[in-house]
Amino acid sequence: MRAISLLVVLALASAGLPARAAQDGLGRVRSLRITILSTMLADGDELGEWGFAALVEADGRRILFDTGAHTDVVLKNAQTLGVDLAGVPEVVLSHNHGDHVGGLLTLRRSVMARSPAALSRVHVATGIFFPRTTFNPGIEDNPALLLKPEYEGTGGVFVVHDRPVQLYPGVWLTGPVPRKYPERNWSGSGRVKTPGGWVEDNIPEDQAMVFDTDRGLVVLFGCGHAGIINTLDYARAIVRPARIHAIVGGVHLFAASDETLDWTAQKLAGFGLDNLMGAHCTGIEPVYRFRAALGLDRRHAVVGAVGAYFDLDGGVFPRNIAR
Ligand SMILES: [Zn+2]
Ligand SMILES: [Zn+2]
Repeated sequence: MRAISLLVVLALASAGLPARAAQDGLGRVRSLRITILSTMLADGDELGEWGFAALVEADGRRILFDTGAHTDVVLKNAQTLGVDLAGVPEVVLSHNHGDHVGGLLTLRRSVMARSPAALSRVHVATGIFFPRTTFNPGIEDNPALLLKPEYEGTGGVFVVHDRPVQLYPGVWLTGPVPRKYPERNWSGSGRVKTPGGWVEDNIPEDQAMVFDTDRGLVVLFGCGHAGIINTLDYARAIVRPARIHAIVGGVHLFAASDETLDWTAQKLAGFGLDNLMGAHCTGIEPVYRFRAALGLDRRHAVVGAVGAYFDLDGGVFPRNIAR
């Protein structure tokens, strides 16, 4: 099998195709499930909050994406859902905000005695540790920066990415996303100290995960501060210009204007979108707008709830509350 793959690579290389094309077919995810562990909508015994977290299972690799807002909500939800995070070595943090990093220390401490390697490696993008202020100048207000020493004190490490990276075959991190379109998906109230000085905080480190599958790209968002279209456009540039098979997570359109939603829907239609599990800061109205505008139905476009999951083979499993 390996020899055949090598031959394919050599054949493509000799045909003068770019390196990215040579990876096509060789870096695909074959099995994928993304389970929501924190968002506002919850069912049964799970807890909802303004925050986001999800467990990624891709070809047997398990990665925790974001950690919720409260210190204990993801821990509790994982226990209730029967998800054992002791077998999850890696974490991805989409950005610095407290509703995505709030559970990190609790989760790490909950598993490290049993499994020192669990949740011990955190992938982040350049900018996440830049100093921040919001309402009180001079008071450090970056939750990720504030928890960094304590997390590292547990033996955990941060891996900072300044560009896209393929962590495993077909499993990508965008790193910082170029802001090609003027999507303003952030509050505007924060300031960040970049190498160039203090500027309005547009959350420069905001990143998404991208999974390259035979059905197209699956993109997992935390808060989508870089913009849903900017991120998808970039994902198609760095991975491959495929259709978007699924969007999962928060894309910060809960307060977007009708014009913004119409523009976004039109762009999404241009990419082609098969499944939408809009959670967290996506907002409920935008999910339904996109469902209608893109000709999707209740099986393919839902508001994400805690415990809901997207599966590459089975599609969207919304749980009872969101059916
Ligand atoms: Zn945020
Ligand atoms: Zn958020």
